[in-house]
Amino acid sequence: MTLSYGREYLAIPGPSVMPDRVLRAMNRASPNIYEGDLIDMAAGLIPDLRRVARTEHHVAIYIANGHGAWEAALANTVAPGEAVLVPATGRFGHGWADMAQGLGIETDIIDFGKSTPLDAGRVEEALRADTAGRIKAVLVTHVDTSTSIRNDVAAVRAAIDAAGHPALLMADCIASLACDVFEMDAWGVDVIVAGSQKGLMVPPGLSFVFFSPRAAEVRAAMPRVSRYWDWTPRANPQGFYQYWGGTAPTHHLFGLRESLDMIHGEGIEAVWTRHAALARAIWAACEVWGQHGPLALNMPDAAHRSHAVTSLRIGAPHGSALRGWLQDKAGVTLGIGLGMAEPNDPAWHGFFRIGHMGHVNAHMVLGVLASIDAGLKALDIPHGQGALEAASTVIAGAA
Ligand SMILES: *Cc1c(COP(=O)(O)O)cnc(C)c1O
Repeated sequence: MTLSYGREYLAIPGPSVMPDRVLRAMNRASPNIYEGDLIDMAAGLIPDLRRVARTEHHVAIYIANGHGAWEAALANTVAPGEAVLVPATGRFGHGWADMAQGLGIETDIIDFGKSTPLDAGRVEEALRADTAGRIKAVLVTHVDTSTSIRNDVAAVRAAIDAAGHPALLMADCIASLACDVFEMDAWGVDVIVAGSQKGLMVPPGLSFVFFSPRAAEVRAAMPRVSRYWDWTPRANPQGFYQYWGGTAPTHHLFGLRESLDMIHGEGIEAVWTRHAALARAIWAACEVWGQHGPLALNMPDAAHRSHAVTSLRIGAPHGSALRGWLQDKAGVTLGIGLGMAEPNDPAWHGFFRIGHMGHVNAHMVLGVLASIDAGLKALDIPHGQGALEAASTVIAGAA
């Protein structure tokens, strides 16, 4: 018997749930790319994207996923043979470092492991030790989607300033933009990278690099930047095609227009507050389940937990068994335990993640939690009782 027929729910940390409004906006014939609706609409996307990132500065759009934005940010600012400092708190920090290595950039990695946020003091030390001025940028993952750690980006700015170091501050906000509070200008961030398929609720395929005037100066001093990745024409287009470096990503743009309308209709601060409340409900349930049995939040300190994704440890084989049960019996797809163990390691089966980014509300979160509760019971995985009560109490208090 399965109870999975009905609307399926993809509760993984990206791609996120697509709103019907976004899907409807994309459901249209190919538009003219030389005049008409598409051209009229495009310029308005830029200020609305800036409002999401809380910046007055530049944005370049790429037809790429997050990996493309990683490469774009580096290609404009760091030349081969130069170095970046990477305080890593999970798979995605190492992923951006790997991207840098592929460009011939040296990477100084400070590995904080999988359950500890970055320590800005260590970043400051590393910058002070860089008397030769090798380090061109510090690459911070705001939310590492593998571990669900949220790092204090403003503290890294303070560390860079305290060390009196000229390195750019670059932040990966792919998982966190339009989910967790992020203030590009107020926090002194020079470059942020983001993607369309997480908090922005659009299918994968667009990515964004926001950059400050300082970062633009660093770009101007680069010996060479490949034409395709160069952010200059994209951020200052003379012709419509230059926004995209070629043909516009037509349907994604109509989807993005709708999602930005949804975000600003709700209000970015309200979007942040909603994500925070839903995250607290999830944590409350997880803490109760964890009172008896193997389930535990990966990030012990709530102050450093993402509001967009929650990584959990439950011991092999329970993680994979639970994911399988929810998928087959309840129509809910949970995230795999990315980066916690290698897929050929039996420990791989001991982790899972709940994605709660973007178009997610109270009944969706309560439904996922109740489905997990049923799965724990069906699979005889020991767990504390009263998790759903704890979650609904949080929702009642927040709404
Ligand atoms: C999803 C994600 C990426 C990678 O994005 P892709 O679109 O899969 O290339 C990078 N960093 C973070 C923090 C992410 O969440």
